Amino acid sequence: MTPDDDDDSLRRTLDAFDGARYPLDTISSKALRFMLARPDGCDATVSPSRFEVRFGWHPARHRYVLRAAPPVVSELFRLADAAPAPSVRARIGPGTIPITGAVSWSFGPRWLWMDASGTTVSIRVRDGTGRVGIPADSEPLPEPIKSPRRFVDLAWPLPCPHCATPALRYRQLQDGSLVCPACSRSFVQAPE
Ligand SMILES: [Zn+2]
Repeated sequence: MTPDDDDDSLRRTLDAFDGARYPLDTISSKALRFMLARPDGCDATVSPSRFEVRFGWHPARHRYVLRAAPPVVSELFRLADAAPAPSVRARIGPGTIPITGAVSWSFGPRWLWMDASGTTVSIRVRDGTGRVGIPADSEPLPEPIKSPRRFVDLAWPLPCPHCATPALRYRQLQDGSLVCPACSRSFVQAPE
């Protein structure tokens, strides 16, 4: 994929907020299914360089090809029955997405926030079960999905290889590396 294709994908994603519609294909349907099918919700961002999603059930960043973004936003507009606008607050689902030549999939009620700025699109999906109506315009966005913070407690102080400050407790990143509480730099703990 060339950078031109990526530029085009962001432009088309923004065009979807202006009423352009792009049909779901296999790749975009898969991305949207992950965004909607589970009640845990997700935060998605479309920027000039990436289409990135954090899922409530797996908050690490997942990247999708940018060309999946225009059909995803188009379908969310269709599901929300929303008029073209840079900002959408809606309740969608329960619903079923039929895919020509593929297995259809279903999702439960969801609350949806979508916002387009000049170069970025933000999408938030949360479980709509038990919620009435749609998210109010006056309400702040839902809390972003964050990676749970994990800490490692050590039997004896371990000096940071960057700044040499010893610590008994380190925050651990998803890749297993440790973050120094003194200098905030991360490192891989040497095997004992
Ligand atoms: Zn340090």
